Amino acid sequence: MNEIFLLKLGEIVLKGQNRRAFENCLKGNIRRRVKPYGDFHVYLKQSTIYVEPENDSCDLDGAWEACAAVFGIASMCRCRPCEKTTDAIYAAVLSYLGDELSMAKSFKVESKRADKSFPLNSIQLSQEIGGRLAEAFPQVAVDVHNPDYTVHVEVRDFAAYVHGPAVPGAGGLPTGMGGRAAVLLSGGIDSPVAGYMIAKRGVEIECIHFFSYPYTSEKAKEKVLELAHLLTRYCGRMTVDVVGFTEIQEAIRDHCPEEYFTLIMRRFMMRIAEKIAREHGCRALVTGENLGQVASQTMEAMAVTGAVVNLPMFHPLIGMDKEEIVTIARKIGTLETSILPYEDCCTVFTPRHPKTKPELQQVEAAEAALDVESLVERALANTEKVTVKYDED
Ligand code: ATP
Ligand code: MG
Repeated sequence: MNEIFLLKLGEIVLKGQNRRAFENCLKGNIRRRVKPYGDFHVYLKQSTIYVEPENDSCDLDGAWEACAAVFGIASMCRCRPCEKTTDAIYAAVLSYLGDELSMAKSFKVESKRADKSFPLNSIQLSQEIGGRLAEAFPQVAVDVHNPDYTVHVEVRDFAAYVHGPAVPGAGGLPTGMGGRAAVLLSGGIDSPVAGYMIAKRGVEIECIHFFSYPYTSEKAKEKVLELAHLLTRYCGRMTVDVVGFTEIQEAIRDHCPEEYFTLIMRRFMMRIAEKIAREHGCRALVTGENLGQVASQTMEAMAVTGAVVNLPMFHPLIGMDKEEIVTIARKIGTLETSILPYEDCCTVFTPRHPKTKPELQQVEAAEAALDVESLVERALANTEKVTVKYDED
């Protein structure tokens, strides 16, 4: 084969006894993700996962994109394998990296010798290959401190590999190693990012969306399903539970004081989400809440909302600035969909003067006007389960 991928493990290398389980999970995830692009041999050696096409019909670009979204990989590079001799290594550098090298202002060679039986050590190998390249490309200066381009040579067990600069992988831990959590997914910018961040820690996710037809439109629901679909690139297929929320919102509007509308609504969301989460074997709820962003996201308001939940609640965006959240949304490709202008059920019946420092007892008293249990039961009965798959699944 004249091109393969080397994927370097991230935090997994810090694992002790569990390391093998993490590695096997990651290999399995990579195999599954590259499969639609052809037959690849995926194996692990020396903290590196090799992804090797088995024939010429493999779609390398497609597989490369897929690997870039697999959690557990710190960095990745496309390489040319070659025989473990200096002549073969030099020839591979010329044919594989020659174009890029010729356009650089300066370069250096960085070598790693994992196979200690190779006769030159790393420094000698870099000097040897660097010397020959300096002669072949006299217009490109050698700069070992701050080079414009770095040629990498790795002498490993089975072969030597040459490549240009590595690119960052998706980071995090392999999906499936951290259990499962349920993400409360709205159509906004924040909750898809929150879901992504939890998934990045190795967690499988399911999503729950509250939908208030006709106050929120069919389009708003489609937008949320599209956001879930965009997340499947990273987290794989998932179920989205779409909960009919209209009756609850109308009951709150008709029977509760306006200043508590949002808080009482959010307490209903959490109760229902917890029941659905447990049904899916999820061990935590995840929201896109962010301290101080809106009235319902003060510490006092979050305490009132959280008081009805008996699962751990994770708020991965809690301490971030909006700009930081937007940067991640852009990077993971959810921003454009999130900013489509459809309403969310949170914006239906919004109080003019919401309580920013609510007291639990007062909220409980306001809520006592409602038959909470049967409203929750009916909403659960009025839930549609939608399976959302990654395109290539
Ligand atoms: P987002 O950008 O995620 O919509 P937001 O800043 O608009 O967040 P809120 O609307 O107050 O914040 O909602 C806070 C969190 O509550 C959301 O991040 C999400 O986790 C959850 N949430 C809000 N609305 C819904 C909904 N309709 N369905 C499911 N979860 C929701
Ligand atoms: Mg929202």
